[in-house]
Amino acid sequence: MLCVPQVDNPKLLRFLMVEPLLVGVMRKWNNNAGIVYAPDPQLHLQAFSHWTYEVTDKKLMVVDVQGFKMPAEGSAAPRILLVDPAIHCVGTDYFTSTNCGGEGGAGFDLFLESHRNPKTHYCGKACKAVRDKFKAFRKKQHEEAEQAERTRRAFSCLRVVPDRASPGGTASTSPLVDKKLGQLKPALKAHEECSKLLAGRALPVPGALFQAIEDCLKHRLMAPERVAELHRRRVEGNIGRHDWFDSMGNLTRVN
Ligand SMILES: [Zn+2]
Repeated sequence: MLCVPQVDNPKLLRFLMVEPLLVGVMRKWNNNAGIVYAPDPQLHLQAFSHWTYEVTDKKLMVVDVQGFKMPAEGSAAPRILLVDPAIHCVGTDYFTSTNCGGEGGAGFDLFLESHRNPKTHYCGKACKAVRDKFKAFRKKQHEEAEQAERTRRAFSCLRVVPDRASPGGTASTSPLVDKKLGQLKPALKAHEECSKLLAGRALPVPGALFQAIEDCLKHRLMAPERVAELHRRRVEGNIGRHDWFDSMGNLTRVN
């Protein structure tokens, strides 16, 4: 991080994040539509994309694997510095518009189609070498997720007690829960609203709120202002979902 005093007012400081200058030719070894740079496919990078897919139970895939080939230095082998990937994910609310993993998962299919094409042999030795490690890695991830869930349950302040005195309302045990509910509830309500509109026209109701809102817009069931408002609630809800506790019980923002 650089701290730069301003020329016209040295008391005013500006902070800048910097990274090393990247030189050389930038190469894209695969993109988010299954295209591989055939003259130099770098099979271990293709195996990396495949691995991210398998290890996440086919829910996510890192693609757009691109960057710079760094020249060999002394006895060290040449390195590849990767930057700016795209991620296909079954959850369409994540990873920007380059995510083509939702709604049937076309992004996954495009990668696998070229990757497993017997003419290209992109899926080969390098993939095989990491295949056996998929299961062990995933088992560890599941165990850690279960442990995190047990820890979360141990925090009694997260327990929400339904308020029987006022039907439909909830009474929580902490201001934090109130805050979270304040963020999450409007998003849930937004999904309800979209579901009613879509179901009313016998249209399918997507599980993801983003798509549900967009479908309402597409079928002109909702005014653009309302669409904007529901998207605002959706984003707020996502922020609420990403609040988490660290081991000391302090609230931390993980995303
Ligand atoms: Zn493979």
